[in-house]
Amino acid sequence: MMAVKPSTLKPSALAYVPFVSVENMMKLVHAHGVEAFITGLAAVIEEDFKRWPEFDKTPRVASHSRDGVIELMPTADAENYGFKYVNGHPKNMREGYQTVTAFGVLSSVANGYPILLTEMTLLTALRTAATSALVGKYLAPKGAEVMAMIGNGAQCEFQAMAFRALCGINRLRLYDVDPAATDKAERNLLAQGFEVVRCTSPEAAVEGAQVITTCTADKQYATILTDNMVGAGVHINAIGGDCPGKTELHRDILLRSDIFVEYPEQTRIEGEIQQLEPDHPVTELWQVMRGEVAGRRDAKQITLFDSVGFAIEDFSALCYVHGLIADGQFCEMLDLLADPDDPRDLFGMLTRAA
Ligand code: NAD
Repeated sequence: MMAVKPSTLKPSALAYVPFVSVENMMKLVHAHGVEAFITGLAAVIEEDFKRWPEFDKTPRVASHSRDGVIELMPTADAENYGFKYVNGHPKNMREGYQTVTAFGVLSSVANGYPILLTEMTLLTALRTAATSALVGKYLAPKGAEVMAMIGNGAQCEFQAMAFRALCGINRLRLYDVDPAATDKAERNLLAQGFEVVRCTSPEAAVEGAQVITTCTADKQYATILTDNMVGAGVHINAIGGDCPGKTELHRDILLRSDIFVEYPEQTRIEGEIQQLEPDHPVTELWQVMRGEVAGRRDAKQITLFDSVGFAIEDFSALCYVHGLIADGQFCEMLDLLADPDDPRDLFGMLTRAA
């Protein structure tokens, strides 16, 4: 690896690609503060959602296996192309691995050269949380103060930090089937100044909550929330059901809710709404953000963000990080692309190195 700063690169040195390692991503986030980083990222996601028609869009390319899924998530606008490689393996956690890991690439559409390679395991948790809280800003009931969090794994604290930063929610009610996960989340969240209540059942967790976040991982049609647990006026932020055959909510909840989605073509395959008829009405969030259709209309309405995670959120995150490392900090330069003096003499470059 070369210690070359992007600002000192000659055009021929485009072959060197900035790389943000996990260590540098952590330094970058801390340099801004977690909540400020998420707030900045949410603003970029919101801008990109507002210019939705400008993007090439496709449901992600998923390779399913018995225990999980490996996915590629591409999108592009006129200037940049981005993709994320991400897995989802619920069993990993029991074996000491992350359920979700990821890395991503941003490229220039003009010449196809990558301009960023970065870790995206942390960045996915940050962008998922930023998106959830951004949607919460549009859909959560006014004055919401309490959020139930069912599933206290890797995504949990990021979600909490984002909902505090964007929606002002500081009171949390935690539940996980595994008390050790709640121990971990409680410890981390108390250290961040949250008011935390541990709950012994999902029914107890949702008591008095205006926002309910479900972020569990199980490769099955699970019923984390049953119909009788969801009262009028709540906002449900359902992030764990994001794969065919993997859902969290009882179907009856969906029938009582106004459902908001990222990209219907992908969500109908992967989200909670895979349980419904293919033409069940849903609202696209970009249209809510542009003010073209209503978000929350009244205090009794149940709103549901059926989150699966869409490529544009990763694209926003890649562009955001690319902007933050423009001065050459928090990255290394990778010798990633072959760069012969004569572009046609690739073979000559190889033989001269012998
Ligand atoms: P994780 O494995 O770290 O945590 C999941 C937690 O859920 C674990 O603590 C587990 O004990 C708990 N759990 C499982 N079944 C439960 C149940 N019935 N009731 C209560 N708790 C239960 O996983 P993670 O990284 O936090 O991800 C959580 C989910 O979010 C995964 O399904 C993942 O695929 C999904 N996800 C979605 C997005 C998105 O954009 N929508 C992004 C990232 C992750």
